Amino acid sequence: MIATIPDLADIARRVGGDRVKVESLAKGTEDIHAVPQRPSFVPRLNRADAVISIGFGAEHAFLPALLEVAQNPKVLPGQPGSIDCSEDIVPLDVAQNLSRSEGEVHPAGNPHYNVDPRKGAAIADAIAGGFSRLDPPGAEAYAKNAAAFKAELAGRVELWRKEAASLRGRKAVSYHRDMVYLAEFLGLAMSGEVEPKPGIAPTPRHLESLANRMNAHRVKLIIREVHFSADSAQWLSQKTGARIAVIAVMGGAFPDSRDYFGFIDHNIKALLEAAK
Ligand SMILES: [Zn+2]
Repeated sequence: MIATIPDLADIARRVGGDRVKVESLAKGTEDIHAVPQRPSFVPRLNRADAVISIGFGAEHAFLPALLEVAQNPKVLPGQPGSIDCSEDIVPLDVAQNLSRSEGEVHPAGNPHYNVDPRKGAAIADAIAGGFSRLDPPGAEAYAKNAAAFKAELAGRVELWRKEAASLRGRKAVSYHRDMVYLAEFLGLAMSGEVEPKPGIAPTPRHLESLANRMNAHRVKLIIREVHFSADSAQWLSQKTGARIAVIAVMGGAFPDSRDYFGFIDHNIKALLEAAK
């Protein structure tokens, strides 16, 4: 089985147990919208029984083109081996006009739901459903493993909610528009992004106006996703006195975020530390 990103791979391992072997294509430190189309991905996709993805077009940069050359019809979109974890997710930021014409990377709504731990249950269910479709004799095991994962997750979600209570109402900016789901969970008030639109590089003028807005509204928290350069975050921090939290939008980016729970935990701790 192939998962596009490390945190989906980890949940798939939890759900699949010893009946499956799961590898991730992207690394946790990469930008999901700019993962290179590595030739080494092609044989892996060719041999895969399933491809587990975020969906909503998140893997647009690498997955569709590689699937086209991988010659594995059973994992193409709509086929049983295509497990799209967004199937039960209601997308935020759904735009009126579905277009990538200006280079925007969220044409089907915001795909970064995996950063919000409340969505882990829907991800586990989508994966259990997909595995059961492909391997009916394992259905009972997948359902049991998914239930155990969701029970552990529910406990952690309550702990994270309590631990992060001081973040409620805090104003913050991020580099990319990838915090909408997590911000809703934590009660963070997102006040803008370094990118004027998702996937569009900032101009000096946009940065200047963001800094002015941050000063006017006393925004004291800058979220820098680890795959983006530190320059603009540092510049904004100097202009506004806001502190920087370095977080990841995929699992596996930091030594303590190799599994899904570690990924969420690292981000919340980094936000709390910077918001002190
Ligand atoms: Zn994005």
